[in-house]
Amino acid sequence: MSILTALTGIFRRQSYLSSDHYGLYIHVPFCARKCGYCDFYSTDAIALAPFFLRALKKQMAAGTPGFKRRPADTLYIGGGTPSLLAPEQIEKMVHMVRRYYAVASDAETTIECNPTSVTLEKAQAWKRAGINRVSLGAQSFNDDDLRFLNRLHTAADIFRAIELLAKAGFSNINLDLMFGMPGQTMARFKQNLTLALSLKVPHLSVYGLTVEQGTPLQERLDKGEFTRIHDEMFEAMFLTAHMMLSEKGYGHYEISNYARPGFESVHNLNCWRGTDYIGFGPAAHSRVGLQRWAGPDTVESFIANPLTRSFDHQVSDEEGRLEQIMLGLRTQEGISQSDLISAEKTSVLLRRGFAQQNLKRIRLTPHGMLCLDSIILFLEDKRCSTLNA
Ligand code: SF4
Repeated sequence: MSILTALTGIFRRQSYLSSDHYGLYIHVPFCARKCGYCDFYSTDAIALAPFFLRALKKQMAAGTPGFKRRPADTLYIGGGTPSLLAPEQIEKMVHMVRRYYAVASDAETTIECNPTSVTLEKAQAWKRAGINRVSLGAQSFNDDDLRFLNRLHTAADIFRAIELLAKAGFSNINLDLMFGMPGQTMARFKQNLTLALSLKVPHLSVYGLTVEQGTPLQERLDKGEFTRIHDEMFEAMFLTAHMMLSEKGYGHYEISNYARPGFESVHNLNCWRGTDYIGFGPAAHSRVGLQRWAGPDTVESFIANPLTRSFDHQVSDEEGRLEQIMLGLRTQEGISQSDLISAEKTSVLLRRGFAQQNLKRIRLTPHGMLCLDSIILFLEDKRCSTLNA
């Protein structure tokens, strides 16, 4: 779907079937240490990096039918911790993808990094390779929060990383922040937001901490080592972020994302709009129309045979529709009332203050965003049952 189509408010059915635009994603699976809350695939076997790059080359060279000549709008190097790779390995990776795919010359090209692994030499190499956006996993400016999350860095490392990135010429920077850690008071969270604002980065991702099954944090919770913060505090922090960042000119363009005008992440916007994307590397997912697949799910199996898939299936038209409702409702663009939800259900959302309507598009209010899960269940229900949110 084109940006123009989105702006004119016409969200056609094809938006979850296919569009001309698409993005490329590379999953770099290495992390120096596992963060307590993380359920993404990663490994500390960094010595495998040269073999990983070789397998990546095979996977890219094999290609995806119909995509090699189609210009990609975005390239996102995520993980894992891509910044753990040596400068020349990142340069090699970007040249590799440009060799096998038609990445547009002005494509938004993002790298994720952690504060401890940013050096001036690396940042300069990223710039040389054509990377024009950096996403930094800051999470918190409070060292107690960072220890609780089992992050490797301190608050001082965040300031140092930002300085090095600026020195290398990066201005399009995102900071990831987290809220809802046990012991985090509202004052401490506001202090985090104030410090993040003082760095004048144009994009902030603000996530609520969730304890995922199978993570070290879940184990600690089960042992009674901490308790979750109350729902009321969680909601108050979400609304505080909305208020403080909106006041400073950041648009709340997706549940967890804020940007100064023009700095919204194109890669993420495309994903929420239902655009196709091709993923490379272990456990990287791909979506083309209604087709969904992922590569081998460990780095070892990826190195052994990068062309196999850990799953490959087609979702039904109805599943595609529900997926698009879920993704669209996360964003300020919202969803088309006529195509995706009935007038009856729309009126319940509007009456309850969960949504607003403009030019036949439905978008959630901040209060509605807090109740997204219940709203999705309500919309999935064929009957117009009560919305318990
Ligand atoms: S650095 Fe990121 S990917 Fe790696 S363990 Fe921490 S949260 Fe997960």
